[in-house]
Amino acid sequence: TITGTARTALVTGGSRGIGAATALRLAREGVDVALTYVQDEAAAHEVVAGIRSYGRRGIALRVDSADPEAVPAAVTGAAQALGRLDILVNNAGIGVLGPIGTLTPADVDRVLAVNVRAVFLACRAAAGLMERGGRIVSIGTALSRHAGGPGSTLYAMSKSALAGLTKPLARELGPRGITVNLVQPGPVDTDLNPADGPFAAGQRAATALDRFGTTDEVASLVAYLAGEEAAYITGTEVVVDGGHAA
Ligand code: NDP
Repeated sequence: TITGTARTALVTGGSRGIGAATALRLAREGVDVALTYVQDEAAAHEVVAGIRSYGRRGIALRVDSADPEAVPAAVTGAAQALGRLDILVNNAGIGVLGPIGTLTPADVDRVLAVNVRAVFLACRAAAGLMERGGRIVSIGTALSRHAGGPGSTLYAMSKSALAGLTKPLARELGPRGITVNLVQPGPVDTDLNPADGPFAAGQRAATALDRFGTTDEVASLVAYLAGEEAAYITGTEVVVDGGHAA
């Protein structure tokens, strides 16, 4: 930005994959970025260095999204460290896949804690802090729109909850000029879902474009929704899936 205070963001799960690409993309567009991670400290610090290379402030917070106390603390901590909070990207997510009989109650608790409860609690904390122009973008999955095959009962169930959150929250925060949207990616080449992994061929074939997406192709959409130009887009799902649902 040329004048005034820079916009600021918190990206959960920003050390690798889609979250890392989003953090870097936002920084490139002039946003100061806080990110969370749990395990890969070196990767988190590398992303922070990347953010700083764009001349923006970057911080990494070790925060497990499964911890209901830590999630709102990360939101307020990011706002304090960066002076304000304009953008929340709910990206951290885990996938436990397999036939329904193999998925345990502990799997259900873990997936719902990270993919659903953490998003709710982060939105709750952010809603209390954000000013006019605020942006909340969550990362769901195209699998909750079109399953295409077995194995994703728990994962898709958890991500479907984000559609239920997004619409009423957009209604609630709309009068304050804050938008809330859900990005639904198809297969994207990351550690979670490598384009050369054992399940890659079927996913690639299920897209109209016959390929995986890149993290940058999701990050650019998130950055658009987080930007000023997307001020009239709220309460909706935006799909970036290579035609997976076509
Ligand atoms: P990756 O596994 O490549 O990266 C996950 C990131 O989230 C890492 O930075 C990881 O940090 C962090 N993370 C994981 N668990 C937690 C946690 N409990 N608390 C905080 N941070 C955590 O995943 P992707 O980039 O592929 O996925 C990002 C999001 O996009 C997820 O919500 C996923 O469900 C969704 N998605 C992915 C698709 C794909 O094909 N890749 C398709 C559709 C949706 P750490 O370094 O500590 O492990």
